[in-house]
Amino acid sequence: MNYFIVHQNKTFENEFKGGFLWAPQRSKSGKEIFHWSNMKKVKEGHIVFSVIKGKIVSVGTAISHCYTSIKPWDFDKIQWAEEGWKVDLEYNSLVEPIYIKDIFDGLKELLPEKYSPFTKEGKGNQGYLYELNKISGEYILKKIQEKNYLNHILNNNSNQGYVKERSVIYDSSDLTGREKDQLVKVRIGQGKFKQLLLKRYGKCHICGLVQEEFLIASHIKPWKDCDEKEKVDTNNGFLLCPHHDAVFDRGYITFNNEGEIIISNELSYSAKILLNIRDGMKIELDEHNKKYLSWHRQNIFRSMGQLIVPHE
Ligand SMILES: [Zn+2]
Repeated sequence: MNYFIVHQNKTFENEFKGGFLWAPQRSKSGKEIFHWSNMKKVKEGHIVFSVIKGKIVSVGTAISHCYTSIKPWDFDKIQWAEEGWKVDLEYNSLVEPIYIKDIFDGLKELLPEKYSPFTKEGKGNQGYLYELNKISGEYILKKIQEKNYLNHILNNNSNQGYVKERSVIYDSSDLTGREKDQLVKVRIGQGKFKQLLLKRYGKCHICGLVQEEFLIASHIKPWKDCDEKEKVDTNNGFLLCPHHDAVFDRGYITFNNEGEIIISNELSYSAKILLNIRDGMKIELDEHNKKYLSWHRQNIFRSMGQLIVPHE
């Protein structure tokens, strides 16, 4: 994976709306400039962090290699040559932008010495596109995930001890007494279900996260569709971290009977990166998981136009 930083103060709006990066091939006097020529290094699937006014506001994924293109806007104030380099980019705005100054202590020693996107004081260097080495790119991505991930948890899970079921409505203000009793029973039941899964697996079934407070007991076949036995059958559950629960629960991923991941083509490039989903991921399966997974593939997975080879 290759990572880049792009400084986009003046051009961000145009580029964000159009879904691309663009830089001239040469200056008016005919010179190649390294931070423009860096465009040629961008290939499909590379990650680009957009920096505006000292903060990272988007994690983009290149959805094309670099190609030749004339200046895509009428930007008279900026006297650039017409011939340029262009990359199609899928932007992914961050709910919580990352201030460079907040992560710079950890970042500065990882940055490349030559052609660094930032000065030693953590200010943006003059220039458009900078290539990062792997270690600094991964560090930034980790910081983004931490901040946006923790916020996700804080916003969505006020007090439920983080056990959930897709069919249960947590806003119980409109419920009758009997329904509330029912709901309490469901929650207690799910607490037990989580304990059983903790005992059996102890970690996220996909990425291996072990911190208990973040782990979610996720039914493979949804609770509302289960009979009494299926509701508490640990073969019908995976322990998942919030990211992996969200994508599995909503059917953006599923697994075949070999345990190999099947990713819905409705999941965008950027979402895959941010949610830690990769082609080729594989989970361990028990024989008894398979009937539930088969149900998940047929009823939950978003397979629009996708051919799933059955491994029955
Ligand atoms: Zn996970």
